[in-house]
Amino acid sequence: MKGICSICSSPAHIREIIDAELMRPSSQRMRLRDLEKLTHVSKSALSRHSRKCLIRSLLSEHRQRMSVDPDANIYVLYPNNQVTRDGLPIDLGTALKECDPDKDVLLCVEYENLPFRNRTGANPPKPDPIPEPRLDS
Ligand SMILES: [Zn+2]
Repeated sequence: MKGICSICSSPAHIREIIDAELMRPSSQRMRLRDLEKLTHVSKSALSRHSRKCLIRSLLSEHRQRMSVDPDANIYVLYPNNQVTRDGLPIDLGTALKECDPDKDVLLCVEYENLPFRNRTGANPPKPDPIPEPRLDS
């Protein structure tokens, strides 16, 4: 059947066993041949599921975990201890009291101290010498 993965469409407890095994570090993972014997799912289906479905579902889980609650406030802490909440300045004490670490986003701004360089990293070109006044005959 084209387009339908036999592992994705199998019962959840079977899929969980297969996914758990496929997500182990390669040094600890069962060989596909052995997993095939254990689960009665073909090696090619295991391989396809591992390369396509598993990565897709991990990415979507990750995306959901990283997505920000629409009610979250965004706090920005600047190096001089100034704080903004959703772009408006508020005092640090209020921010610490009202910030919800399970929901809100806190961004800390740090400045890196770098030596000044021009864009090319090369020394600036020397200005052309001022031409000597020519004494034409
Ligand atoms: Zn699959």
